[in-house]
Amino acid sequence: MSKEVHLRKFKCVSCKREARVRILYPFCEACFLKHYERRVETVMRRYRLIEPQDKVLVAVSGGKDSLSCAHFLNRYREKVDFDVAVLHIDVGIVECTNERTERVVRSFCEQRGIEFYHLTFEDYLGVNPEILFRKSRRPQCSLCGMLKRYIMNRFARERGFNKVATGHCCDDIVRFFFKNWISRNFTWIMKLRPITESNHPKVITRIRPLFESLELENYTYAMINNINVAGCSRCSFFLRKDKWYDILRMIEKRDPYFKLNFVRGLHKIKWYNTDDQRVLNECIRCGEPTDKEICSVCVTKEVLNR
Ligand code: AMP
Ligand code: ZN
Repeated sequence: MSKEVHLRKFKCVSCKREARVRILYPFCEACFLKHYERRVETVMRRYRLIEPQDKVLVAVSGGKDSLSCAHFLNRYREKVDFDVAVLHIDVGIVECTNERTERVVRSFCEQRGIEFYHLTFEDYLGVNPEILFRKSRRPQCSLCGMLKRYIMNRFARERGFNKVATGHCCDDIVRFFFKNWISRNFTWIMKLRPITESNHPKVITRIRPLFESLELENYTYAMINNINVAGCSRCSFFLRKDKWYDILRMIEKRDPYFKLNFVRGLHKIKWYNTDDQRVLNECIRCGEPTDKEICSVCVTKEVLNR
């Protein structure tokens, strides 16, 4: 039986018409969109993610999560007066970002009149990513993440943005929590809250509007809105199928609301809500904030000169 035929048995919980989507509840497409946006808006208000006149730079990889985040924020401007622009970083690995990803994100922005910025590791950092990935001992995903975070923060500040929004979603938070709990990286766990306020004049506040949105909901939101999705086929094209994906899938089979209830309870944990206590200095090489003398990006760049 096809999925659609199967869904005909269900009625939308909101309007009682035929359901077309069934993630947590059955919905018709229009009611799903309302339900999705209502939940994100609740997160926006509860954690005060946006204030009027904010200048928000949305980091968009081209995947379903960050494109949904940018689409939502652009629509949210009808309710709150703030600026939105998009930054897409070409990391120089063909499977992750390439000319097609750039075209997808650029045309998404053009269709909506959103300011679009495109940077490459090579141009912005002056390093050849292939050589860097080959020479560094750090795993590629971790190196790539570190360089992207550096660029997002520095570029946003240089261009006068006061917030950076990312597409981190509920599934990311739960997976990240378990992974880092098991390896006892508690300081990392605290990094993924709906908002991480700036703790240094050179650090830009981070917001994660999709904190309570499931990956599948983001995918469905993007599809219903006819958003063309590209993105990294290695780590985030559709679902991240690692060990934690399987474990969480098993839990979800018993309790479909597990991930949502899990992230909703996090703010009650005292230590999770403690701000990063590290004292930040400015890197003696590039001037960017770091808790060491030389920041990890400059240390990594030095590898190239060896
Ligand atoms: P990831 O580290 O792949 O889980 O991505 C987390 C978030 O970082 C995404 O939801 C995006 O907001 C942002 N991001 C990841 N890759 C890129 C990229 N190449 N360019 C811009 N933003 C990105
Ligand atoms: Zn540096």
